[in-house]
Amino acid sequence: MLIDTHCHVNFSAYKDDYEQVIQNSLNENIWLINIGSQLSTSIRAVEIASKYQPGVYAAVGLHPIHLNEMEVDEFEQDIHFKSRAEQFNIDEYKKLLNQPQTVGIGEMGLDYFHLPSDKKPEEVKEQQKEVFINGIRLAQEYNKPIIIHTRPSKGTFDAYDDVMIILDQVGYYNGVVHCYGGSLQQAQQFIERGLLISFTGIVTFKNARDLHQIVKALPLEKIMVETDAPYLSPEPFRGQRNEPKYVKYVAEKIAELKGVSYNQVAEVTTNTARNLFKI
Ligand SMILES: [Zn+2]
Repeated sequence: MLIDTHCHVNFSAYKDDYEQVIQNSLNENIWLINIGSQLSTSIRAVEIASKYQPGVYAAVGLHPIHLNEMEVDEFEQDIHFKSRAEQFNIDEYKKLLNQPQTVGIGEMGLDYFHLPSDKKPEEVKEQQKEVFINGIRLAQEYNKPIIIHTRPSKGTFDAYDDVMIILDQVGYYNGVVHCYGGSLQQAQQFIERGLLISFTGIVTFKNARDLHQIVKALPLEKIMVETDAPYLSPEPFRGQRNEPKYVKYVAEKIAELKGVSYNQVAEVTTNTARNLFKI
C-alpha cells in the first residue's frame, strides 16, 4: 500500500474522468489526499472525499498564487491559468474543517517564483506571510497538520528560510514541507523542528542530483511520497498529465537512492502519512 499525500484530482484537469483516475489508484491499493488551492477546489476536495471512505481524503487551504490575479504557467506542463485574487475566508474554511474527511490544512505557504508584475514584491510577500500565518493558526486551532507550499525565487532557497522564520514565530511544527526543493541543511532544520519532508516525481529526474543527495541523507521515517498530480509526472511519464497511481515511481526511486526495498519504503511512508493525517 502507498498514500499519495498530495494530489489535485479535484482540479479541472480531471473534470471528465476523476472517478476513473481515483478508481485506478484505489485498485492498486494507493490512497490519496486531494489538496485544495483555493475555496472552490477545497470544497471539491471535500465533496470527492465524502464518496470514497476509506481511501480518499481532503486538505483545504489557499495557495499563495491565488492571493493575486496573474497568469501562471506550470513548468514542463502545458498548463496555463489565470489566478483570481482571493481572500482567506476563515469561516468558510472552518465549515470544511468540520467534515471528518478533511485531514489537513493546505496547501498554504510562500511562493516567490510567481509574483504579480503589477505589485511591489515586498508588498506581495507581506500579504503571503499574513495569510500563511492565519493558515498555521487555523491548523493549530483544529489540531491538523499543515501542508506547506514553498517556492523560492529563481536560483535561491529564500522562501524556505522565510517559512522557517514564520513557523518559529507561531511555534507550530505539525505538518509537511511538500514538493521539497530547499537545501539539505534546511531540510534537516525542518525535521529537527518536527516537520516531515515530501518528495514528488522530480526525484525520478536524472538531473535532480541535489535532491538525490537530500533523499539519501534524510531518515526514511521523515519522508513522505506524493505526485502533485496533474503536475510533475515522474519518469517515464514526464510531460504527460500525472496521476496518483504514479506515486509508486516516486517510492521506487527513493528505495533505489536509499538502498532499501520498495516494500520498506511503502510501509514506512504509509505509516508516516497515516500518523500525520490520522487516517
Ligand atoms: Zn500542489
